[in-house]
Amino acid sequence: MHFEPSREAALKKLNNFIESGLYNYSKLRNFDFGPNERSNISCLSPYITHGIISEKEVIKLSLKKFSFPKNEKFIQEVLWRIYWKGWLELRPNVWSDYLTDLKKLKQEYINNKNYFDAIEGKTKVQCFNTWVEELKNYNYLHNHTRMWFASIWIFTLGLPWQLGADFFMRYLYDGDCASNTLGWRWVAGIQTKGKNYVASEWNIKKFTNSRFNNIKINENPVPIIDERNYSIIDNSFLSSNISNNQNLLIFENNLCFEQSDFKDQSFKNLYFVFNENKTRQTKLDEKVIDFKKSLINNQIENLNSKSLNCEMIGIQDLKDIKENFLALYPSVGENLDYLSSNNIKNISFLYRKIDQYSWRYCNKGFFNFKNYIPKIVQEFI
Ligand SMILES: Cc1cc2nc3c(=O)[nH]c(=O)nc-3n(C[C@H](O)[C@H](O)[C@H](O)COP(=O)(O)OP(=O)(O)OC[C@H]3O[C@@H](n4cnc5c(N)ncnc54)[C@H](O)[C@@H]3O)c2cc1C
Repeated sequence: MHFEPSREAALKKLNNFIESGLYNYSKLRNFDFGPNERSNISCLSPYITHGIISEKEVIKLSLKKFSFPKNEKFIQEVLWRIYWKGWLELRPNVWSDYLTDLKKLKQEYINNKNYFDAIEGKTKVQCFNTWVEELKNYNYLHNHTRMWFASIWIFTLGLPWQLGADFFMRYLYDGDCASNTLGWRWVAGIQTKGKNYVASEWNIKKFTNSRFNNIKINENPVPIIDERNYSIIDNSFLSSNISNNQNLLIFENNLCFEQSDFKDQSFKNLYFVFNENKTRQTKLDEKVIDFKKSLINNQIENLNSKSLNCEMIGIQDLKDIKENFLALYPSVGENLDYLSSNNIKNISFLYRKIDQYSWRYCNKGFFNFKNYIPKIVQEFI
């Protein structure tokens, strides 16, 4: 399993999946056959997370192959990402509280053997140790494995979910503040309060094709309790004012400008903003940093070959810019945090139309959001 950092590679993966994996997706998607056999899932998340290909493009192509009813499961999964993003946008304090908790816990666990055994893959749970290696080697884990991993981390190893989320973010090529933080909260039982995800030996055996034996894990845990309640913030910020011939900033979540809603607008210059570890609150593995940088370079090459003016700048350069800028909205997370903690206010955000439309349905649970999926597809695809 290899993730070549280019749009060409992303499109190739997408086309291969639509041709050969999509047909059996809903039947086989929960199986983790190991890193050398991934044809039952798309493995597109490292590209979609970075906006190298968009959810719209993926869904559109899948609908060319199969009708909506035949394709519903896959479309739902693709739209989970937008749902999680919208959910966090409406409750940004979930992200800031996570960072505050994480800072404290990192100090508390600075010499904790149990924690270090976990992140070095030296626990008594063999399948877990294998997944630690897999995550570090391939920077990717199957969705079901992420669920088992998080469940074992929290309920068998007894470690705080925040440290697990941080460990995933460090190594995943698709690391995404919303999907990751909320995925961990969901497993812990605080996203849907009182409902935790419990990994079990039979389930792991079945869906890994019996690749692991002797799985001794806690199968009767109680959910984690977190009494904090998060009310929904006013979402009227979600409007875009475009004026021509300004500079445009592009952050790591929207890298394919040519697929953006604003591709036909005229901009003076495009600046791809690179955020290195120095300017991040949660540090990433060098391979992940390199992956991001290579994706940006790939996009710059593509655009330069079409005579569009663009270049990469460091996020810290934004502190010195006095004029007004437009920016494709970076979403709740590291980049937005950098702008607010450095008091950078001369940036107006442009929101993706699909987000503006869909995020209004993210005030409740996913089962509610699901009802609006046909509407979202009709409107945008
Ligand atoms: C604890 C935990 C942490 C996670 N962290 C991340 C993360 O940091 N970044 C990330 O992109 N996903 C995360 N996920 C969601 C999911 O595991 C991955 O998106 C999925 O495994 C990507 O593989 P794929 O592209 O082959 O997915 P496919 O099954 O082929 O699905 C197609 C696309 O749908 C979207 N998708 C599928 N499942 C989910 C889901 N549960 N939540 C959100 N989007 C989904 C992804 O964009 C994916 O590329 C996490 C899940 C859990 C349980």
